[in-house]
Amino acid sequence: MSKLKYTQPDEMGFYGEFGGAYIPELLRPNIEELQANFDLLATDEEFQAEFKNLLADYVGRPTPLYLSKKMTAEFGCPIYLKREDLNHTGAHKINNAIGQILLARKMGKTEIVAETGAGQHGVATATVCALMNMKCIVYMGEKDIERQAPNVQRMKFLGAEVVPATSGSKTLKDATNEAIRHWINNPTAYYLIGSVVGPHPYPEMVTSFQAIISKEIKMQLKEKTGIEIPTKVIACVGGGSNAAGAFFEFYEHEEVELIAVEASGLGNETGHSAATSVLGRPGVLHGSLTLLMQDEYGQVTEPYSISAGLDYPGIGPLHAHTIEIGRTKSISVTDQEALTAAKKLTIEEGIIPALESAHALASLYKIEFKSNDVVVINLSGRGDKDMKTYTNVGF
Ligand SMILES: *Cc1c(COP(=O)(O)O)cnc(C)c1O
Repeated sequence: MSKLKYTQPDEMGFYGEFGGAYIPELLRPNIEELQANFDLLATDEEFQAEFKNLLADYVGRPTPLYLSKKMTAEFGCPIYLKREDLNHTGAHKINNAIGQILLARKMGKTEIVAETGAGQHGVATATVCALMNMKCIVYMGEKDIERQAPNVQRMKFLGAEVVPATSGSKTLKDATNEAIRHWINNPTAYYLIGSVVGPHPYPEMVTSFQAIISKEIKMQLKEKTGIEIPTKVIACVGGGSNAAGAFFEFYEHEEVELIAVEASGLGNETGHSAATSVLGRPGVLHGSLTLLMQDEYGQVTEPYSISAGLDYPGIGPLHAHTIEIGRTKSISVTDQEALTAAKKLTIEEGIIPALESAHALASLYKIEFKSNDVVVINLSGRGDKDMKTYTNVGF
């Protein structure tokens, strides 16, 4: 296979200047074992068949590609929603969790460790662990445990052990630190990472499992319009897994505009933002060299967004690279803009979006459209988990 220009990292796991595997020596054998097993998957027919079957019959794929007539009228070009909100457990996270649990099983693992922020990745991981009879330990910031009680209850009901991360800001970054520490102390455990972040080969691996999103978009557009390539694809970015999946098939089609939407919280100038590609500088976090929100001394700073799923101080190295070279465009959306977009979709379409996905919807007001545009927005998840926030702001 010829090298893909954007989506294929080099031997060391670098996308341009970003990526790599900055890990303690103790973890080197684990990473090498993971890499070797991941390399085999592409030609492993049993794995491919099982992945495909579970995505179809357990997750509920393909998810619909829905043409919104109202949004089409409003913006003057066809606007499609890729309905990842209709997946089992309510978001795209399950695509990756299924891929990695099959890999873990192949590697003979019986214990899974994961981190979670809002709890969506924790729920997806606890779900696939129940399915595969694996022990599941999920690290979650103490603050997030309080904020996201329903997801904590779901994880526990599914049989997972939820361990509070009590260091630092007691949120996702700290939960990730503690999950990695657990992995170092328990090298037989499998670390199931939830986004396109972390040491090589995780970003490449998670991207490959989420790529199903854009593979389906192509087939569905072809069926509906006769042309499989849209002109614009829009997705929100926390770490960047739903965006990487939605963009994957289109990176090499230079004419397709890829738009990554980051959360700017109260605004990029306020000190309360999570827009990493705007505010970040290169640095190492969680095993990867990437764009990172940090102070003048290189200390990671606290991101802020109303949406726990976008509240991460880094961004996957594929996105850091493609944004830096101009292949992907980034747009910032505030809490208020996202809330307004969430309410609008709910009232106009009868679809309550996740707060994360609402950021992607709000970006429509910051983009110029032409009548010959064909636009796909990845609706990464549903809003059940956000009802408390929506209620508190007075919707
Ligand atoms: C976790 C999550 C995100 C952010 O994660 P990415 O890796 O950037 O996709 C976005 N939307 C929803 C619904 C999520 O649960």
